[in-house]
Amino acid sequence: MPTIIEIDGLCKTYKGNRQPALDHLTLNVDEGDSFGLLGPNGAGKTTLMNIMCGLSKADSGSVSICGLDTVSEIDKIKHLIGVVPQSLALYPMLSAVENLRVFGGIYGMERRKVAERSEELLNTFGLWEHRNKLADKYSGGMKRSLNLIVGLLNSPKILFLDEPTVGIDVQTRRAIIDYLKLINNQGTTLIYTSHYLSEAEELCNNVALIDKGRIICNGKPASLTLQHSCGSLEELFLKTTETAINNA
Ligand code: ADP
Repeated sequence: MPTIIEIDGLCKTYKGNRQPALDHLTLNVDEGDSFGLLGPNGAGKTTLMNIMCGLSKADSGSVSICGLDTVSEIDKIKHLIGVVPQSLALYPMLSAVENLRVFGGIYGMERRKVAERSEELLNTFGLWEHRNKLADKYSGGMKRSLNLIVGLLNSPKILFLDEPTVGIDVQTRRAIIDYLKLINNQGTTLIYTSHYLSEAEELCNNVALIDKGRIICNGKPASLTLQHSCGSLEELFLKTTETAINNA
């Protein structure tokens, strides 16, 4: 499969910090991948994700998506990507359908298309009957699902998900993972960060383990565990980073 994301020598140090959040990070993602960026808290995953989506700028290095530069050509990239941020990006005082209308407008989608897609996705995640409730009144799991629906609204070619299942019940988590597998099988490229390694093992065909802003190793989960004589990604992670990953 052709490369869809090229990350070349990314460096980023936040003001006031001595340690870089990203340290000459280079990585390629192939079209159709379900790619997991895995690492402990503070590893640099969100920083990398934000730079890839054009939400933050690197100090040096570059990212291209479908051959387009994420700094100078972000307007073209916006139509190709969906973003599901870790912190919920919803208007609490608007209902689910109103939220989706606002985000549809931001994406430049036709109103009819927004309505059709909203109905389809709200039904998929069991939220259709709650569509007129304020987002503020949703449970944690319902908010996470709506946050995901916003990212899926414009049927993106590439979907970025930053810890999409954090803090939710088992049923909602299952519904989200199964839907992500389905759209990945249908051709959507997924870039997913998590510290749930068993979830990553199930969802991702390729992973990169990140620590201190650097790639420790990357490849297929089964090859990586075999190569490092580990029984699971979690064991590999603990071995390579010496950091407990499920401490959040
Ligand atoms: P992760 O998503 O893997 O938890 P982050 O990308 O959030 O990691 O953070 C990487 C490093 O950058 C951490 O040391 C974190 O404290 C620091 N950092 C992240 N965001 C900021 C910020 N806005 N200002 C200062 N430091 C930050």
